Amino acid sequence: VQALRIRNLVKTYANGVTALRGIDLDVEAGDFFALLGPNGAGKSTTIGIISSLVNKTSGTVEIFGHDLERQAYAAKRMLGLVPQEFNFNQFEPVMEIVVNQGGFYGIAAAEARERAEAVLQQLGLWDKRHEQARDLSGGMKRRLMIARALIHEPRLLILDEPTAGVDIELRRSMWTFLSELNAAGTTIILTTHYLEEAESLCRNIAIIDRGQLVENTDMKSLLSRL
Ligand code: ADP
Ligand code: ADP
Repeated sequence: VQALRIRNLVKTYANGVTALRGIDLDVEAGDFFALLGPNGAGKSTTIGIISSLVNKTSGTVEIFGHDLERQAYAAKRMLGLVPQEFNFNQFEPVMEIVVNQGGFYGIAAAEARERAEAVLQQLGLWDKRHEQARDLSGGMKRRLMIARALIHEPRLLILDEPTAGVDIELRRSMWTFLSELNAAGTTIILTTHYLEEAESLCRNIAIIDRGQLVENTDMKSLLSRL
């Protein structure tokens, strides 16, 4: 079964702006997939819909075979989202932010603490576990967002512009982390403005522009045509 299957996705916002004009998208399980496009193309809208933050106008979305509307809980359970903005409580300790997210998925506290320790270790945040989120550096906050998204061991991880405004050193270490996560079996989709980021990480790519899919191919054949 595919990690993500989108058919004829349309989104018109309340102000009349049509952000998506009928998108079809398939992402295979195990893929590392880039959704590329200029500002305003519809990337955030697409992942907003996949993560149930934005209501679609029409079309269908399935995550590992679970329809986002008819099997919403099962679909959401498969998905981890790393939005662009830091939307955790700045006054909460790092450990609590990650553990409490487990509660949303019905993960027992003891197990959530175990998993939180594992992801915080992996992301180099274990020493910071008692600090309030506001005391972390920007790069650490980014890693905290990733740790929190992984607490329920999602099969599909979606990251919106994960390295926007991130310095080159952290960018490299995030790329390594994501590559390893993908190698261990997690399907990853990221949005980016940067072809170089997609190029160094992703096997397959879709390009959207003004709400339409203009390219959907593997990275090698795209690069051979540029
Ligand atoms: P991208 O992430 O590729 O930059 P977006 O999905 O954010 O693109 O935006 C696609 C289009 O939808 C743009 O024209 C944008 O201005 C518009 N848009 C996005 N969010 C909203 C919103 N909440 N209300 C109205 N229009 C929106
Ligand atoms: P860009 O991706 O071009 O940097 P932003 O992500 O800042 O643009 O979003 C542009 C507009 O889309 C803003 O109005 C923002 O509120 C809206 N938007 C972006 N992502 C989402 C989302 N996941 N849910 C709802 N609105 C969103």
